[in-house]
Amino acid sequence: ADQLPLPPAPRIFTVANQKGGVGKTTTAVNLAAALARAGANVLVIDLDPQGNASTALGVEHRAETASVYDVLVGDASMSDVVQKSPEFDHLYCVPATIHLAGAEIELVSLVAREQRLRTPLDAYLAENTFHYVFIDCPPSLGLLTINAFVAAQEVLIPIQCEYYALEGLSQLLSNIQLIERHLNPALTVSTILLTMYDSRTNLANQVVQDVRDHFPDQVLDTVIPRSVRISEAPSYGQSVVSYDANSPGSLSYLEAAAEIARRGAPQ
Ligand code: ADP
Ligand code: MG
Repeated sequence: ADQLPLPPAPRIFTVANQKGGVGKTTTAVNLAAALARAGANVLVIDLDPQGNASTALGVEHRAETASVYDVLVGDASMSDVVQKSPEFDHLYCVPATIHLAGAEIELVSLVAREQRLRTPLDAYLAENTFHYVFIDCPPSLGLLTINAFVAAQEVLIPIQCEYYALEGLSQLLSNIQLIERHLNPALTVSTILLTMYDSRTNLANQVVQDVRDHFPDQVLDTVIPRSVRISEAPSYGQSVVSYDANSPGSLSYLEAAAEIARRGAPQ
């Protein structure tokens, strides 16, 4: 695999969009795999009670498995719960289990309820060399997603190339602005990735154009095509990058990862 420039300090991304099914998990997992394949040390934190990122990375996440829930609500450290991916040497995952479904409510009454991920993550990154962290969020703007925004410096928003793509985006951006103002001044929307692109439809092309007009600096040049191989890979507990390395979907995630690496962290 081609080597990519490694960031001098860990880049922490929250992959967020309050809509479901727009490609958050697929993007978190495949960018992570692509960067690990290129030699970076990468951590994926599954913050969705569905546990889709854990499934896609082939890590254990049965109800009894130590998970991100024990970090957020209990007093486990990241190193107590992190698992190595079976796929790549440099790829690690903090899994989510079904217990996380209750965390949204349990967090409400905890001290420093917005810092429950940031504090243990910072401690873990001080002791372990990681180049990239991707936090996969649930499809809501509740306390789990707020914890992800507080723990990150960069927000990556996947946008599906379809008619309603921009709907809800202004709400997402104003929530991020509130977090930046009150909880995490370092937070920036650095990256927008267009997903599930179908070049045969005029509509998809119109969405691509609209998003590029609105966010010229954030949108990656690479667009992720709609691809059956991408949607099949998770059922084998693999990223598309190893499931079918030369498929168009795999190549597009490798290219998007390279763009992210070459752009570097925002100033
Ligand atoms: P989210 O995490 O935002 O809910 P997912 O990443 O789980 O979204 O994607 C939703 C569904 O679409 C999944 O079944 C996934 O496999 C599929 N999918 C995601 N990206 C693509 C793509 N580029 N081509 C085809 N299917 C995709
Ligand atoms: Mg998801």
